Amino acid sequence: MSISLYNTLTRRKELFTPLDPDNVRMYVCGPTVYDHAHIGNARPVIVFDVLFRLLRQAYGPEHVNYARNITDVDDKINARAAEERVSIRELTERTAAQFHKDIAALGVLPPTVEPRATDHIPEMRALCETLVAKGHAYVADGHVLFDVASMADYGRLSNRSLEEMEAGARVEVAPYKKGPMDFVLWKPSKPVGQADTNQPVGQADTNQQAEPAWPSPCGITAPGRPGWHLECSAMSEKHLGPVFDIHGGGIDLVFPHHENEIAQSRCAHGTQVMANVWMHNGFLQVEGEKMSKSLGNFITINDLLETDKFGGQPWHGRVVRLAMLGTHYRQPIDWTVDRLVQARATLAEIAETLVGVTPAAAPHGDVLAALEDDLNTPSAISIIHGLAKSARRGNAATAAELKSALQLMGIYDNEKPDDFFVGAGAPQVEEDEIAEAIQARLDARRARDFKEADRIRDDMASRGIQLKDGKDPKTGEIVTTWEVRR
Ligand code: AMP
Ligand code: ZN
Repeated sequence: MSISLYNTLTRRKELFTPLDPDNVRMYVCGPTVYDHAHIGNARPVIVFDVLFRLLRQAYGPEHVNYARNITDVDDKINARAAEERVSIRELTERTAAQFHKDIAALGVLPPTVEPRATDHIPEMRALCETLVAKGHAYVADGHVLFDVASMADYGRLSNRSLEEMEAGARVEVAPYKKGPMDFVLWKPSKPVGQADTNQPVGQADTNQQAEPAWPSPCGITAPGRPGWHLECSAMSEKHLGPVFDIHGGGIDLVFPHHENEIAQSRCAHGTQVMANVWMHNGFLQVEGEKMSKSLGNFITINDLLETDKFGGQPWHGRVVRLAMLGTHYRQPIDWTVDRLVQARATLAEIAETLVGVTPAAAPHGDVLAALEDDLNTPSAISIIHGLAKSARRGNAATAAELKSALQLMGIYDNEKPDDFFVGAGAPQVEEDEIAEAIQARLDARRARDFKEADRIRDDMASRGIQLKDGKDPKTGEIVTTWEVRR
């Protein structure tokens, strides 16, 4: 098998050659556990799960070592715990458990290891000590800071020079920093009772508001806590070694998070690279807009799976997964109800053909080839459509290989067609309402308000009614008919 992957570091697609084929190592930045994971967070989890599965297929499951961390030390966690008046531990445990439940429903395999920042504090302190000893970091005002100027090629991943970054820096620079781009490795924690909180004085349970604190490194006497970037450098080194094969995450992490991970790890270990291949998934937006709480389009994985918040009904985890993989991982993705409706129809059709079929020993080669080409999942899915057609015509060998390919991708595992219609039930739409919708859509089109026209179509689709446009053969006018989707 020959796998090619696009490498952010070299800005090219490259043939993947592991450092050690008996121990292929991948690290992916996992969630910061302060709130339910949203559907954008699900994207790297699903994308790198597909890569994990492909690597296991290529090198053998026991030869792939995948670490996806849990960030359980972070200021957002402290703030949320104070807001909810729960202990930090309670919040992180609860959120991590919810995350596991959510992604299991999306067909995501557990990684080989799932390190937590709080279990690696000694390793983080040691990294601080090493970086100071090697002249790459300094102590100032209770902080340990990375001296960016001490690294000749800082900025290689994001492809920016230090001068450019400094010129663009809008943040107010803390007075104790030597250079404006220097970043925190370790910082002091405010003692009990002094933590920032929105709570009125007097009502606060100070015990719960103390920032988490550990003995500090580098001769700093006051207790402190690690910076976010340092956490990943320490965890990846511990579980995968100073240099490993693949490092992944969302595109937003390229700078500063991954740039700073690289700076810390390379300077501490004296290596040319931290990971050979850096992979980044594109961003997800919802119905054409950035997801945000204020826009009211913020959707958690749990909302999709268990509530009717998106499209008026809950969606099966595999439907969500297939919908996600319909776009190449490096492209931006627009998350729409229509996408889910289509994915569901595809899965129902696949299930009708493949339920009860015994999978072949190896997945179909064409699907595999598409995945080997920088995880080209949209191409894999279009191949799957073709194979399903052939399987429906009675080609048993194709059916078996297709089923094996679908299992490899985590898309289908013997569900029945109806299983994918979670809570959709029989459509609850009166015929009058459908007629009104068709008319409203026609009006919207005439007014060239195509967004509204599409919204009406999606709304009907989400309720099990598919609107179909045709032309009146005599007048040439558009005529819309409808049918129940299932
Ligand atoms: P966070 O918990 O914010 O650190 O994010 C966890 C992972 O989700 C990171 O790899 C982010 O890059 C990724 N991520 C966050 N928001 C989105 C989004 N809207 N689309 C795609 N990936 C995202
Ligand atoms: Zn990270």
